[in-house]
Formats: sequence, structure tokens, C-alpha cells
Amino acid sequence: MIVVMKEGAPKEQIDQVIEHIEQWGLRSHVIEGTELTVVAAIGEKRDGAKEALEILEGVEKVVPILAPYKMASTEVKKDPTVVEVRGLRIGGGHLGVIAGPCSVESREQILEVAHIVKEAGAAGLRGGAFKPRTSPYSFQGLKEKGLELLAEAREATGLAIVTEIMAKEQIDLVSRYADVLQVGARNMQNYPLLEAVGESPLPVLLKRGPSATMDEFLLAAEYILKTGNPRVILCERGIRTFEDHTRFTLPLASVPYLHQHTHLPVVVDPSHGTGKASLVATMARAAVAAGADGLMVEMHPNPDKALSDGYQSLTPAGFRQMMAECRKIARVLEMRM
Ligand code: PEP
Ligand code: MN
Repeated sequence: MIVVMKEGAPKEQIDQVIEHIEQWGLRSHVIEGTELTVVAAIGEKRDGAKEALEILEGVEKVVPILAPYKMASTEVKKDPTVVEVRGLRIGGGHLGVIAGPCSVESREQILEVAHIVKEAGAAGLRGGAFKPRTSPYSFQGLKEKGLELLAEAREATGLAIVTEIMAKEQIDLVSRYADVLQVGARNMQNYPLLEAVGESPLPVLLKRGPSATMDEFLLAAEYILKTGNPRVILCERGIRTFEDHTRFTLPLASVPYLHQHTHLPVVVDPSHGTGKASLVATMARAAVAAGADGLMVEMHPNPDKALSDGYQSLTPAGFRQMMAECRKIARVLEMRM
């Protein structure tokens, strides 16, 4: 339920509403708008709660939250959430670009990429140190060494570091080096992991599971929000369909759909979304045109030699061109990039 307070309702009246909500074992969440204050009551429906709240002083009206996700819903918060860390701004008219290799492979590789990414105008550096690989025989990432190299690249460029965590036990370690914790597609429904990153002070980039519906995706984000971390970035990275001309199918209608249903910012990953380097730049442009708040793109100085996902990685020249093209579209849409 959302309790909409009357204009100018004093703090005591708001506190009284919170007290009632919490006495039913529900969580309260106060959102101060420019004109009105609303208090969201989150949890299982309680008989009689709506009626009891409606008669409290200072209450304008009580409306149910229809979406299954509550804190993520635009019903609770209309103004877009902007996630900002170092120079990376995602949301609210800012198009944040996160780019880099699939995996951190060596000091030379990540430093070279970081400088290219920075010069081309991206604000975030991606690179996996803990890699979720389909085969246990594939390269699994440099682990802590990879994190150290990412931190060195941050030191050299000022880019915000976005890197994946696969297990709760890795959070402390990864948080010492990263600016944004990435929860990968395979872990979108790993609820203990979602709750663990919900306790982190770092923003979380949550990738859509390849078979997750929009409601499942938003409910996964809800776990993080509910645990106490409001800085969640959603990432559409493609879903599995019958189609096999691309690695995944990249459904860009999810961008405007998500913008209608959630205040959280939406980033698109056209690299995993297509799995083909030749398709990445066009889909990045399409994502910007669809209103994405950011892009996550794989780029490698030498894609043929990459230890993971080389076939979907842009070359430095390809990346620069993609950035120039996306910038033109962003300008038309009055997005800062
Ligand atoms: C990645 O970003 O390299 C990655 C593994 O992505 P996803 O979780 O979307 O497969
Ligand atoms: Mn990858």
C-alpha cells in the first residue's frame, strides 16, 4: 500500500503513519517528493490496515501497490533513480557507458583497454576476474590478481570498475577493488546472493537471467532493494529463444517496458545480447534510441586472442566508432553521454 500524505503534512503525522505500518509487521519506506510525501507499506496484505490508515491525521489517501515488486515499482517512486559512482552516471538523462574485456587477462591488456575506453568517452571499465563459464575447463578468471589489475587501471584512468561476483563469500574481497558489483545472468535468481549484495554499500548491476520474465527480473531487483541497497542498475543482456542466428535474442522493448514499470535505470549489453561483434554497434545504437540509460560493451585489443567471448568483442577502432555513432543518437534524444 502507499499512504499519500496531505500537502505539508508535518513530521509527527508521518511518524504516526510509520508507527502504524510497523506495528503490523510491515516495512515502511518514506519517499519525499517535491510536493507530497508518501509512505509505502511493504509486506503481506493485512486485513483492516488500509481502513485504519485512511482515518489517520494528515493522510490524503491509501492506494494499493498493484505490481508484485513494490520498491522497484514506479507506483511507489516515480522519479528515475540515478546511480552515480566516480564519473559514471546512469539514469536521469545520463547515458553511462561501461566497456572493457570479458575477462581481465593481463596487466598490459587491461591497462591498454582502460586508456582506450576512457579516451573514447566511457566512464566505467568492465572486466571479469571471477568468470562464470559454461565449461569447467574454460578460463575461470584471474581472481584476486585480476581485481588488483582492475584497481591499477582505475588508478591510472579514474574509470569506475564494474566486475562480477558469483558468490556471497567473494563480496568482501571484490568490494575492496570494485565500484559496482555485477550479478551475472546465471545468478539473477540466486536469492542469498541478491540479499548479500543488498547489504553492500556499493551499487549493483543486475543482469537479466536468460530465461527470466520481466516480473522475475524486477522481483530479483526487489530482493536487493528490500535488503537495503537502493542503487540497482538493471541490465538487459538478451534471452534464450528458439532463434539461433544470434547467441541470445536481445529484446529491446524491455527498455521502454522497464521505464514504464520501474524507476531503476536500464543498461543494455549488446555484446552478450547478440554474441556477434558485427552486430554489436548497431544494437548499441538501437538501445540508445530505445532510451537505455547506459551500455555495457565488450572490447578487446585483440579479439582473436581473447580468453573469453572474443567473437563478440569489438576492436578498439570498432568501439570508437560505436561511441561516435551512439553519441549522435544520444544528442538527438538530449541525453548526456
Ligand atoms: C559478462 O558480463 O561477461 C557475463 C558473463 O555476462 P552474463 O552474466 O550476462 O552472461
Ligand atoms: Mn563475456
